[in-house]
Amino acid sequence: MFDNYNYTVADRFIRYAKIDTQSDPQSTSFPSTEKQKDLLRILAEELKQIGLADAHMDEWGYVYATLPSNTDKQVPTICFCSHADTAPDCSGTNVNPQVHKNYQGGDIIYINNPDLILKTVESPHLLDKIGHDIITTDGTTLLGSDDKSGVACIMDAIHFLVNNPQVKHGTIKVLFTPDEEVGRGVEHVDVAKVGAEFCYTLDSGDAGWFEDETFSADGAKVIIHGVSIHPGYAKDKMVNAMRVAGHLIARLPLNRLSPESTENKEGFVHLVRMSGSVEKAELDFIVRDFDDHLLKRHGEELYNICETVINEFPGAKMEFSITEQYRNMKKVLDQFPQVSQYAREAIERTGLTVTQKPIRGGTDGSRLSYMGLPCPNLFAGEQEIHSLKEWVSIQDMQKAVQTVVHLCCIWEERN
Ligand SMILES: [Zn+2]
Repeated sequence: MFDNYNYTVADRFIRYAKIDTQSDPQSTSFPSTEKQKDLLRILAEELKQIGLADAHMDEWGYVYATLPSNTDKQVPTICFCSHADTAPDCSGTNVNPQVHKNYQGGDIIYINNPDLILKTVESPHLLDKIGHDIITTDGTTLLGSDDKSGVACIMDAIHFLVNNPQVKHGTIKVLFTPDEEVGRGVEHVDVAKVGAEFCYTLDSGDAGWFEDETFSADGAKVIIHGVSIHPGYAKDKMVNAMRVAGHLIARLPLNRLSPESTENKEGFVHLVRMSGSVEKAELDFIVRDFDDHLLKRHGEELYNICETVINEFPGAKMEFSITEQYRNMKKVLDQFPQVSQYAREAIERTGLTVTQKPIRGGTDGSRLSYMGLPCPNLFAGEQEIHSLKEWVSIQDMQKAVQTVVHLCCIWEERN
């Protein structure tokens, strides 16, 4: 099917990578940074040029577009979604992608940061890519392969389908989002406007990866109120909120229930931020588990620790609150087994083996799944994400393009 096809995915990726779209966790506006629209506006324009007449970016920065069905069959409308922002972890300004053609193994050196080396021992997937063309940064920024690989793959798959009308498919929707990296990617998405029954994000790693299970996630906030008074006259009066906070942190389990002591399907409680004065200390935790009952238990364990400590400091008061962040998509996806089944088949049609494992995090799809749009996650080839060493194989991205096209075909064939 793809023998004579000139992929556009690598050119697109390199162009998109150069546009700074870093999101900002401190910002309260939406999108969190206006510059994300610089790319989102271009994507809407390019979709229009490809032939998707209704392609547009809305006031929040979301890009919506429709590829009309070309079959007489009634096929459920499916959507493909990627996020256009990049992670705040390192600079996303002046990204300067470097293509290492026909990679022959060994370590990769970054031209503008000789101290930084991409080692095969640290990034074992690299050894699977002999003969591939590898894109890295120049060593001074992130690459933004998370998730511009996904964006470029969806764009190229749509380009392929438009230029190969003999390939039959139902109505296909495209959704590009801002602010996924700051956890607000679907805050203003209009699911009715997307108008799809099912969705797939392209935001996973190595070729063949497929994910239909994420953490369930809560945030926990603890506010400790102390009693402030002149330290010279504080005897039996002062309650230092920061000291209470210190005791509380020391009581957290040492060898379990933390990110650094858990893996696979184990959940955790993680202190992400704290600030304080004698008068008042604030602690922000994230709570994670794949199982909603265990998630609740972790929250209760944290509460009990807090309460025990507070009771040891007469005069101290505590406010404790838990906020739901997102839920494990698997509960929703299990109700529609064909969504994941077709995805695995599409990956296999490209000649790849499916690797499936739960994500120790969330995706736009975790929330979309609970907003009425069941949405597992397909690979886009991204590697060593959120770091200066980020890289992607052009051939892996081409496989992701193929996967999207095959998936559209399978949905058409089965109806
Ligand atoms: Zn991502």
